[in-house]
Amino acid sequence: MTDPFVVVGGDAAGLSAASKFLRDRADDRDVVVFERGAWVSYAHCGTPYYVKGEVESLLDMTTLSPDDVEGRGIDLRRDHEVIALHPDRDVVRVAGPDGEFDQPFSDLLVATGARAVTGGFDLSPAGAFTLHGMDDAAALRALVTPPNDPLEDGDLPDAVDRTRVERYANHPVPDSVAVVGGGYVGVEMAEAFTARGVDVHLFQRPDRLLVPFGEAAADVVADHLEAAGVHLHVGGEVTELLTADGRVSAVAHDGHPDDPSPLPVDAVLVGVGIAPAVAPVADAEVDCGGSGAIAVDRYGRTSRDRVYAAGDCAEARHVVTGEQAWVPLGLTANRAGRAVGATVAGTPTQTGGVAGTAAVKAFDAEAARSGLVDDEAARAAGFEPVSTTITAGSRSGYYPGAAETTVTLTADQGTGRLLGGSIAGTDRAAVRIDTVATALEAGMTVDELERADLAYAPPFSPVWDPVLVAAKVLAGER
Ligand SMILES: Cc1cc2nc3c(=O)[nH]c(=O)nc-3n(C[C@H](O)[C@H](O)[C@H](O)COP(=O)(O)OP(=O)(O)OC[C@H]3O[C@@H](n4cnc5c(N)ncnc54)[C@H](O)[C@@H]3O)c2cc1C
Repeated sequence: MTDPFVVVGGDAAGLSAASKFLRDRADDRDVVVFERGAWVSYAHCGTPYYVKGEVESLLDMTTLSPDDVEGRGIDLRRDHEVIALHPDRDVVRVAGPDGEFDQPFSDLLVATGARAVTGGFDLSPAGAFTLHGMDDAAALRALVTPPNDPLEDGDLPDAVDRTRVERYANHPVPDSVAVVGGGYVGVEMAEAFTARGVDVHLFQRPDRLLVPFGEAAADVVADHLEAAGVHLHVGGEVTELLTADGRVSAVAHDGHPDDPSPLPVDAVLVGVGIAPAVAPVADAEVDCGGSGAIAVDRYGRTSRDRVYAAGDCAEARHVVTGEQAWVPLGLTANRAGRAVGATVAGTPTQTGGVAGTAAVKAFDAEAARSGLVDDEAARAAGFEPVSTTITAGSRSGYYPGAAETTVTLTADQGTGRLLGGSIAGTDRAAVRIDTVATALEAGMTVDELERADLAYAPPFSPVWDPVLVAAKVLAGER
């Protein structure tokens, strides 16, 4: 019998690939998915809202149960970690509950995602967290839930790491927390903790929040966080976590030159970034790019024959620069996994490019970005950037609900090509980024974007959508 298509990783990229392969396969090969954890088909993206309490149950953030996955005909092996790839023999080495074994493959997809980096902090004391996965979310929810209230999650699934949950089950809800890192996870968690009545200190080493979103959008988000009571320490670095009796008790920081004494806090969330999880291929001479993620071609093929990579562990082609880039986001993973599944099934399918289109919410504020927002990034990619920032209404001025929307657009001075943009505001600002993302994908100039036939009706938009206003101003400034 022919060796199966083997997938490493049972979430967005891995299960998209396995499902698509089974739907389209032209032969009788099986598909085996190895997942090292107990969770499959889950949404990292919902976890801040689970901690906040807006999402009721962990199960609400899963799309397919293990039974559903198996019902699709996928041979799912949870608690199985792929520990090495031997491409010369077309096998992976797997560590499972019954020991180690070699698994032959006909094609292999590495869809191992990423891991949270700790910033060098020891996160073993009680009250120290990162947020990357369902068990982190469950532990954080236990932290912010009053004692004797069983997580408010009546449906705590078997997959959950109960030891971690129980560690916090009887602890009082913290009075204060330090969030280390002002990227989108830090911002979303600042909202979640605040909603739980926890006093939040948000430390961000660079001189603004949400660096990839550009200055104007970051300012809007910072204003909303402060208005909601979050203490911002922008330009401030946490240098040490201090503990007492095995629990986080304070953070040492350089954020307040006037008062450098440690800040007492009851918990710390470290959200300083992620790194691609490439351990299983580390010794297999699979090429990685400058980002450290696995280098792939337009079909997700790695430098090794019949070995593919997709999702957070892999690079992708940037639609503006044409270079390989590492943009670990949800749609990218689902789309690339699906494309690899189709390719392995017999229909070569490109994974698609990335523009780094992302959105984040901070209380009432929304911010989004796509492409090259920063002049610096644009210059580094060989462009001669020209940018503008405008503020316009989100609906006709006379229609209830109109709110200020701030748009930044960047273009190449010489060619007029749109390079990127960001948008912030309180009235459906984030979804407007899709206009910018589509224009980037199409390689449009700002003049072409200015002439785009966008929808207008008073409840939805002014005659000139804020993105069109920005394009008009930028076209005039070139
Ligand atoms: C808090 C948070 C919020 C987010 N919010 C957003 C958002 O709003 N929008 C957005 O676009 N993206 C968001 N993301 C990113 C998005 O969740 C990821 O891009 C997406 O999950 C990547 O899918 P993946 O399949 O590549 O990796 P993952 O979802 O991480 O899955 C990889 C799987 O591989 C398994 N695995 C790893 N190594 C091995 C091994 N050696 N053997 C077997 N199994 C292994 C892991 O256990 C894991 O289950 C967020 C991420 C986080 C952490």
